[in-house]
Amino acid sequence: MQIGIVGLGLIGGSLGFDFRAAGHRVLGFSRQSETCQLAVALNAVEEASIDPSILNTADVVFLCTPLGVMQQTVKSLIPHLSADAILTDVGSVKAAVVESLEPLWPQFIGGHPMAGKAIAGISAAQPGLFIGRPYVLTPTAQTSLSAKTTLMQLIQTLRSKYYECSPAQHDRAVAGISHLPVMVSASLIATCGQESDAAVLKLAQALASSGFQDTSRVGGGNPELGRMMAQYNREELLRSLQTYRQSLDRIAALVEQCQWDELEALLNQTQQARKQFVDPPNC
Ligand code: NAP
Repeated sequence: MQIGIVGLGLIGGSLGFDFRAAGHRVLGFSRQSETCQLAVALNAVEEASIDPSILNTADVVFLCTPLGVMQQTVKSLIPHLSADAILTDVGSVKAAVVESLEPLWPQFIGGHPMAGKAIAGISAAQPGLFIGRPYVLTPTAQTSLSAKTTLMQLIQTLRSKYYECSPAQHDRAVAGISHLPVMVSASLIATCGQESDAAVLKLAQALASSGFQDTSRVGGGNPELGRMMAQYNREELLRSLQTYRQSLDRIAALVEQCQWDELEALLNQTQQARKQFVDPPNC
């Protein structure tokens, strides 16, 4: 199969590695020629160009650009795609993307591989990034069954765990487990940075170890990605932030009132609840 990757960054490059390893011919299109050259040099794609006509033989095209440029990118690609090409995106938000792209291309299906890293760009791409991670498709009533089947087969070659839901369900679910953590982690880093005693701040920076590394990872990631999550999933993120604020207020009240048994009971509940979200091997 010929696979087109639009936007050769962390996600696009990582998909390229795995599709090539599965024996597909991978063609890349990106905005900058340096990125295209690097993607070829790294073997993430077989060929790459800043000319979208490179995609005209692609059977399936993965749109891996930032969310904010997806619609304009697809509009500019349309004259260069083969009429029966399947188009999918990897964006972290689905309702806004599906609403804007589905009317443009009949063989479009929204998708989201749930894997990432704190660093962005083609140099951060890595083979096997999606192994064992969820990959969700968000088909609608308009989705072609054969297009969905082809994508499901490709997702299988990534060794991801396949899921399917509506775009709205996706956005509500990821607001809590992906977009909220970015904002919480960012506010954690900002809070620690507000230490007013310079010597204590320096000490805290030196003492920060595995716990801070885990809890600050997503807040220290790609700022453009965090902005796009908030901008395009605003309502669901706000809902999650409000619920989170209530949880934080409850914990602050327990500490203020020295209700240590109640605090321990809550931490017991969260210790159990975490297992429902995180597989034991990933703990
Ligand atoms: P990234 O590493 O910054 O890659 C995006 C790439 O798109 C850039 O390398 C850039 O390459 C290219 N690009 C930018 N504007 C373009 C345009 N107008 N036309 C063509 N190429 C363009 O970002 P990423 O983390 O891979 O994210 C890409 C998408 O994946 C986003 O929609 C994001 O929501 C989604 N996603 C991200 C993660 C994550 O954790 N990072 C996880 C799942 C899904 P040039 O150098 O050529 O400009």
